[in-house]
Amino acid sequence: MSDFATNLKNLRERIARAEQAAGRPSGQVRLLAVSKTHPAAAVRQAFAAGQAAFGENYVQEGVAKARELADLPLEWHFIGPLQSNKTREVAETFAWVHSVDREKIARRLAGQRPPHLPPLQVCLQVNIDDEASKSGCAPAELPGLARAVLALPGLELRGLMCIPRPGNAAAFAALAQTRQDLLASIPGLSPDRFDTLSMGMSDDLEAAIAAGSTLVRVGTALFGARSYPAGP
Ligand SMILES: *Cc1c(COP(=O)(O)O)cnc(C)c1O
Repeated sequence: MSDFATNLKNLRERIARAEQAAGRPSGQVRLLAVSKTHPAAAVRQAFAAGQAAFGENYVQEGVAKARELADLPLEWHFIGPLQSNKTREVAETFAWVHSVDREKIARRLAGQRPPHLPPLQVCLQVNIDDEASKSGCAPAELPGLARAVLALPGLELRGLMCIPRPGNAAAFAALAQTRQDLLASIPGLSPDRFDTLSMGMSDDLEAAIAAGSTLVRVGTALFGARSYPAGP
């Protein structure tokens, strides 16, 4: 087995154990393989091992990889900070965006989503625990943002995403509660489509799954350490 295949097997077992420990049905948690900084060849090898959904957080890098691997049936997720001058490439290339945190970005993505593609699957990134960080919507502004996204064509609002400070497991429960609050207060949301809690990474996926994560974004535990710094 390749290193990736071994890591994938171990990670799936980790996820299954976490689901079981949380008393959740097995198979509820999706795995997004975060391939940022790793070359297209690594993604190809990952696909051969059985992984088809990949996350990128730099637009240029993600678009280049998606082009190079256009022969494979991959599902690309954009998970990084998104500036308005990069929305077109994201709208044209990715199936999901996890990091929508303001209405201006949502409007641009909606207007730029090519009509022949299915709606862009959107999670709203919530600044759940770190007021110093600039990415993520403030919880108080979230209902307004959710309503705005619901009203836009070309987008489907699928859930919420967070990147808490390391060790702050309480943030995962807070995001799960935030989803419940939105479901209760916005009639246009249905629990079976607004179904995603994108939370948990290599170091904290057990805590995220215990709190209700439905999608973990995992880089290091699958691909190994990144050789250059990840993210701004
Ligand atoms: C890099 C990154 C991940 C993966 O982090 P690991 O600790 O390598 O698993 C997950 N989510 C986001 C938003 C990232 O930027």
